[in-house]
Amino acid sequence: MNIDHKAVLKLNKMEKKFLRKQSKARHVLLKHEGIQAVSYPTQSLVVANGGLGNGVCRKQLLLALEKCGPVEDLLMPPNKPYAFVIYQSIEGSKKAYGTLNGKEIIDDLGHKIFLYLNFVEKAQWKKLGLQTLPPGLLVVEEIIPPEDEKLLLESIKWTGDTGNQNFQKSLKHRRVKHFGYEFHYENNTVDKDKPLPGGFPDICNGILEKWLKEGYIKHKPDQLTINEYEPGHGIPAHIDTHSAFEDEIVSLSLGSAIVMDFKHPDGVTVQVMLPRRSLLVMTGESRYLWTHGITPRKFDTVQASKQFKGGIITSDIGDLTLSKRGMRTSFTFRKVRRTPCNCSYSSVCDRQRQAPPPSLPASSKEALQLEQEHVHHVYDEIARHFSSTRHSPWPRIVEFLKALPSGSIVADIGCGNGKYLGINKELYMIGCDRSLNLVNICRERQFQALVCDALSVPVRSGSCDACISIAVIHHFATAERRVEALQELARLLRPGGQALIYVWAMEQEYKNQKSKYLKENRISQGEKEDINNDRFMEALPVNQMPDGVSEDPALSVPSTNNIKKGEYKSRKISNSELPVHRNRTSFHSQDVLVPWHLKGNPGKDKAVKSFGLAGCPNPSPVFHRYYHVFCDGELEASCQALGDVSILQSYYDEGNWCVVLQKV
Ligand code: MN
Ligand code: ZN
Repeated sequence: MNIDHKAVLKLNKMEKKFLRKQSKARHVLLKHEGIQAVSYPTQSLVVANGGLGNGVCRKQLLLALEKCGPVEDLLMPPNKPYAFVIYQSIEGSKKAYGTLNGKEIIDDLGHKIFLYLNFVEKAQWKKLGLQTLPPGLLVVEEIIPPEDEKLLLESIKWTGDTGNQNFQKSLKHRRVKHFGYEFHYENNTVDKDKPLPGGFPDICNGILEKWLKEGYIKHKPDQLTINEYEPGHGIPAHIDTHSAFEDEIVSLSLGSAIVMDFKHPDGVTVQVMLPRRSLLVMTGESRYLWTHGITPRKFDTVQASKQFKGGIITSDIGDLTLSKRGMRTSFTFRKVRRTPCNCSYSSVCDRQRQAPPPSLPASSKEALQLEQEHVHHVYDEIARHFSSTRHSPWPRIVEFLKALPSGSIVADIGCGNGKYLGINKELYMIGCDRSLNLVNICRERQFQALVCDALSVPVRSGSCDACISIAVIHHFATAERRVEALQELARLLRPGGQALIYVWAMEQEYKNQKSKYLKENRISQGEKEDINNDRFMEALPVNQMPDGVSEDPALSVPSTNNIKKGEYKSRKISNSELPVHRNRTSFHSQDVLVPWHLKGNPGKDKAVKSFGLAGCPNPSPVFHRYYHVFCDGELEASCQALGDVSILQSYYDEGNWCVVLQKV
């Protein structure tokens, strides 16, 4: 008796849990997809978690559904974590509702997935507008025989070395090799004056001649990039740089098929199946205007019908299933452009861009604009990701804060994510930053922080015992504004109060010492892979990275000894256009744009696995931050311009110039 009673209780508990999940599924479907469930039986059901986006394939789901009765149609929208089933009779749908709800199904990766079913009035799915390939796109199937595929794959001599030798690079889960010209991932172009020795592998030359003769391509390419993609990995959506390459770009898929996503700026997405041994030819609009990319996932949504091989994947969701990805190797052939691009897609043309590239400001108004766009805006956009890379405080800054008497009032001007605000609990610390998103992160961490400009801090003069300004002053775009920022720091200090200032150094190697980052990077291969994980993601290093500049230890660091103390004033940039700094290389200009490669929200994948709505991941945008890197002696000289301070200390710390000031 007693045992029975317990079993009933247990069942009730499970039922309650199940009902909760079912109602949650219903809620999510309505909220995110506009799918309205009804509370009375109909012939159609929406099957939450039974979608292609969950890794459930058509055959498997159908098998489970058909056990409840004859199925009239099963609609599986691409990338969605749900499906619609229409039963021939209401008995079937009722039985499915009654027996499959909360039941598990094993997905294609062997994971358990619980299904939640709800009745719907009508199984509907808004069809994709476009049913044709992007203009200018061509997929030639069986362009080479299996024998040639084998030969081509064997011809790639992947060296065991993961370094930069042999023009081979190891990106995260992806190996690449370049021929003809090396492709530079930091600016997505090639050095047109530096052809690589050796040309193309012989086997490629033969194949290219054949394609030319047969008319598949019109121009002989001179640049080849070989990419090896592991299943589950992809490439962010992008347009190949107009100014770098000619119109025709072709890519040979070997080893395994893939679905490539093409996207028009209007938002129309076309998924194109690239079968094994097929050639993708992109010309005209498809090459210049549409982005292309590969969504990282282990399965592609493909058409189930046997005859389907290459080309567009239609929105006939009654005919979609999953295809498991294998190791795919692509040979992408391009022709380096020698004349300016004059395509008719100026909105996406790097040569015809309406906005001129940022240049060194000639007035404080221009400086403000530059800072607005290339400092303030960028930090607001990258705040979360930036914060996730900034959690280890620097020892000497900690030391400074810990040495202050307890009860000191300290302002952190440009506090970022607030990593120094909680260092010494004995201090009254207040942070401020120009970025609201960064200030919000400080507030989430229960720190006192406010939004303000470092040139006008809303704090009474002489009210601070100490101030810190870490990696801030180098974001001001004129020498005058940098001095003004220092002046504002000094204004906050009481007589005798001290300020610690850090700015990026032009000299990234000092007294034969490489920065901590360089050493760390050498040790941690994992981190290095993280940095190298993609063409868009050759980012500043991830976790544990100091605020200083990073350089690749694999690359030689040219000596900066020629810059003598105090000589910075004479270093003028001949061209006022700001150069884009190549991450992990030394600086060649004091005023630079430093790329930040934004990475997505790492929590996202998880949500998809449970019951999130799977979709295409966002491509990784690149932001350019303006920096004025300081030369040896420059920071001190700027401080001396203030008058009411004395320099107590100045030093070099991991790629930064640093001073401790005292208000006189
Ligand atoms: Mn491309
Ligand atoms: Zn163009």
